[in-house]
Amino acid sequence: ALPKIAWIGLGIMGSPMSENLLKAGYSVTGFTLEQDKLDRLAAAGGTAAGSIAEAVADADVIITMVPASPQVEAINYGPNGILENAKSGALIIDMSSITPQTSIDLAKNAAEKGIRVIDAPVSGGEAGAIEAVLSIMVGGEQADFDAALPILEALGKVIVLCGPHGSGQTVKAANQLIVAVNIQACAEAVVFLEKSGVNLEAALDVLNGGLAGSTVLTRKKDNFLNRDFKPGFRIDLHHKDMGIVTDAARNVGAALPVGAVVAQLVASLRAQGDGGLDHSALLRAVERLSGA
Ligand code: NAD
Repeated sequence: ALPKIAWIGLGIMGSPMSENLLKAGYSVTGFTLEQDKLDRLAAAGGTAAGSIAEAVADADVIITMVPASPQVEAINYGPNGILENAKSGALIIDMSSITPQTSIDLAKNAAEKGIRVIDAPVSGGEAGAIEAVLSIMVGGEQADFDAALPILEALGKVIVLCGPHGSGQTVKAANQLIVAVNIQACAEAVVFLEKSGVNLEAALDVLNGGLAGSTVLTRKKDNFLNRDFKPGFRIDLHHKDMGIVTDAARNVGAALPVGAVVAQLVASLRAQGDGGLDHSALLRAVERLSGA
């Protein structure tokens, strides 16, 4: 029989991902803070639980997809949390993007209860979640990776064990650095092209066919053209990720000179009240700097 799944955190990513597990035949019991997301899970054939304790009590595998380290700690630790209520032998797959150290600590604390953990953050955005083509970067033990693989294959396409606990998070931090710098470069090009009076759509299409082409340019083209900054991936979350990568890089003595500047631009957007917008809103930061 397929393992019974509990899913904690049914947001922009967790909702479509959990639905892909339902489509693959798994039973999914979920808990999240918004009632409409619980209703959506039930409508898709899952079971809406009234608490984390209820969701995880009978689960073989517990998947978590919440915003950041504080939420991962909140749902795991404490009397109503996962570690107190999950079966011994259960496997936690934490797919949130958090600090590597939080993942390392969680694996250690869970092991004391006989609970296994892998960190398995993802890249590919909301579209990748819906289409089940995420890239999934895993940290943990080989045996736990092997146990999780059939489930992860229902969610993603490229699925790689990167090393011990926390390694998936380190790779995800690098991913977020690359994405932010890439969006910033595209945003600068967009403002430059528009101020130069070039047809922007034509320009982006031909740029995307050459070495300047990227997944960011493909996926964010309409956001740039229409100034549509509905998330997607919120600036607040990218701000969190720039903090993670900046901190982790400092710890190992790696310089991120351009990443540090882009982190400041992300922070300034947030300070101006744009934290709820999609990260393609870096275009706004460049426009403001350009007096546009
Ligand atoms: P989101 O804010 O849309 O969803 C987060 C969900 O977590 C919410 O439904 C909320 O109810 C739930 N949650 C928070 N605290 C909880 C608690 N104590 N108990 C139960 N549920 C709780 O966020 P998202 O965009 O889905 O992102 C989730 C994670 O995935 C983040 O770490 C993010 O960095 C990462 N991520 C997001 C994207 C993207 O494009 N949105 C892509 C890759 C990775």
